[in-house]
Amino acid sequence: MKITRLHSVIAALGVLLPALLGAQRRVDSCIRGGTVGDGSGAPRRRADVGVTGDRSAFIGDATASRITAARTIDATGLIVAPGFIDPHTHTQADLSSPERHANLAYLMQGVTTVITNNDGGGSIEIGRTLDGWRKGGIGTNAAVYIGQGSVRGAVLGMSASAPTPAQIDSMRAIVARGMDQGAIGMSTGLYYAPGSYASTDEVIELAKVAAAKGGLYDSHLRDESSYTIGLVGAVNEAIRIGREAHLPIHISHIKALGTDVWGQSDSVIGIVRKARASGVDVTADQYPYTASGTSLGASLLPRWAEAGGRDSLRARAKDPATRARLVVEMEANLKRRNGAHSLLISSTRDTSLLGKRLDEIAQRRNTTPVEAALAIITTADPGVASFNMNESDIENFMKQDFVVTGSDGSDGNPRKYGTFPKFFHEYVEAKHVLTLERAVRRSSAQTADILGLKDRGRIGKGSFADVVVFDEAAFADRSTYEQPTLLAVGVRYLLVNGTPTIEDGRFVNAFAGRVLTRR
Ligand SMILES: [Zn+2]
Repeated sequence: MKITRLHSVIAALGVLLPALLGAQRRVDSCIRGGTVGDGSGAPRRRADVGVTGDRSAFIGDATASRITAARTIDATGLIVAPGFIDPHTHTQADLSSPERHANLAYLMQGVTTVITNNDGGGSIEIGRTLDGWRKGGIGTNAAVYIGQGSVRGAVLGMSASAPTPAQIDSMRAIVARGMDQGAIGMSTGLYYAPGSYASTDEVIELAKVAAAKGGLYDSHLRDESSYTIGLVGAVNEAIRIGREAHLPIHISHIKALGTDVWGQSDSVIGIVRKARASGVDVTADQYPYTASGTSLGASLLPRWAEAGGRDSLRARAKDPATRARLVVEMEANLKRRNGAHSLLISSTRDTSLLGKRLDEIAQRRNTTPVEAALAIITTADPGVASFNMNESDIENFMKQDFVVTGSDGSDGNPRKYGTFPKFFHEYVEAKHVLTLERAVRRSSAQTADILGLKDRGRIGKGSFADVVVFDEAAFADRSTYEQPTLLAVGVRYLLVNGTPTIEDGRFVNAFAGRVLTRR
């Protein structure tokens, strides 16, 4: 009782003293009347947020503290949160494009920072990429990985063979240069050729280079299903890489892909927890969709068939004996993917295929799904949405404290336009799988900590003023598999480094994003 009293006296003095002394503070912008979820996970609270330059300068009661502002943003009835951070995107080309460098698909989701070059991909010319963004301007902040698949491709092409010591040195040198030029770590896509041709030891050798330069390791696992070493085997491989190369491990889009491994989320969670308890820093991101996004070739072809590149694939498909073996293995992979109806063509130059499912395409061509797939892959290799996850695994992973939000958005897939609002709309608002506070934390501060982004992801005095103001009830995705580029709704205001970028729900042509590097 006494302590409570004392507290209220102190609190009252805090409010009254500046007022009595007539102290007035001026900020550039003041977001007034909103409910702040500050990224820490603490209960939301009513507070005004003052921004000066690119940083938050004040949080509290602006009236009582006599804060005056050049501009006021009315956030009455709205949630004020740190701008969201997406640790897994495919936005390198967008950010480099004069038409798409606003990164609007992400801004409209409340995302203020994206990471790209995940899955082992992207350009190995890190310095050139980042300089281009600095010169051309970008709508969101952005950071990159150096992609192991691209590094291997640069040195060994599409060859499946083991590297010579000289080739290992060349790959090491490219990773080191990428890190020196600003990459935050190394990404792998060990499921995809040519990254998949690397042994675990080869990956560890390169990961050590990233580790020595303070980077982290981000991995699309070698197997999220039952293709090769299995989901559990692939998680163990990632942990081994972290343990032996001494760097934090971040698992991309954690999932149990295909009926063979449905229900294995418990085993995976157990392994990750055990590794964390033993001192390996393992985290993961996740998108809230039951379909994964990949290419038709990557989902159905065995990797040996892709060795040497597309011409070699075509030659193999022409040779009767090899083709027979290929078809048998593709049939097995199609089963893993839950059959031909579960594969929907999401991006392709052949627009007659767009939005069609593989069973329908095969029917029209009067052939089997695998024969139809092989014909399409060898000519166009379209992108697919692959419906192969179940809700219980998704929610099981979602509840884990080591899992954060990420889109893995790519063209043709609704995730690129809808991940964050879908997550809040469906799993926070509708199903109450997570609280709003927890959902904000795992979309901002926690992600910043994993990635080593200094002073990002929090609403706090001195933090960079990346701020999203959204309507909790209205915040929702509109993008679908049929119309993947519909922008999200519900974000009313967005500040990027203190600069208003969305006002009244509209992009205002601001390019205030910065290139970020690891602290
Ligand atoms: Zn991936």
